[in-house]
Amino acid sequence: MKNIIIFGAPGSGKGTYSDEIAKRYGMGHISTGDVLRSEIKNGTELGKIAQGYIDNGQLIPDQLMIDILASQYDSLPQGKGVIFDGFPRTTAQAEALKKMLAERGHDLGMMIELIVSEDVLMERLLRRAQIEGRADDNEETIRKRFAVYHSQTEPLSKWFAAEGIRHTFDWSICKTKEGMLEAIFQEIEKENR
Ligand code: ATP
Ligand code: MG
Repeated sequence: MKNIIIFGAPGSGKGTYSDEIAKRYGMGHISTGDVLRSEIKNGTELGKIAQGYIDNGQLIPDQLMIDILASQYDSLPQGKGVIFDGFPRTTAQAEALKKMLAERGHDLGMMIELIVSEDVLMERLLRRAQIEGRADDNEETIRKRFAVYHSQTEPLSKWFAAEGIRHTFDWSICKTKEGMLEAIFQEIEKENR
């Protein structure tokens, strides 16, 4: 399987769709948000550094993220394809990912972009706050994460388009999780034929 980068705003469903894709095709899955939250929970040095950024809705510095990503990637079984969920989030991260993969004889594969309007995102994140209790899922921090997404991450969409690997899925067209998944699965299978 080709590698897959899942790209989208906070609350767009990156984790949910990544889980479904990983299960269906037996792929590896790296969620940088989950890695950081587990470091925080375990009280590691890295967790202590990450916490301040996450609680403020800011991104963790690129070089730190790039190192974490490479070690996660190398710890996965090779040859099945990997889903990158929440990485890259900046152009520097994207360039570093491309280089890291090339050094291992691999490539970026395909990028899947999830388009969801901001009012739907806010509604979902506030609902998730009540279920999961994530510290960064409060309205003030969510607004900061949206702003960071627009300024630092969203421009990357064009970078992927220029690489010729961007595949966009729009919630307002698919309307349901099942509809989105069906469209995504079809596209993945087309790319892997
Ligand atoms: P969702 O998982 O619902 O799409 P999200 O994208 O905001 O929402 P995560 O991907 O879990 O959530 O990330 C949570 C936080 O972890 C980010 O706000 C950021 O502080 C940090 N983080 C995660 N991935 C990266 C990354 N690639 N670069 C920098 N910071 C990151
Ligand atoms: Mg997530």
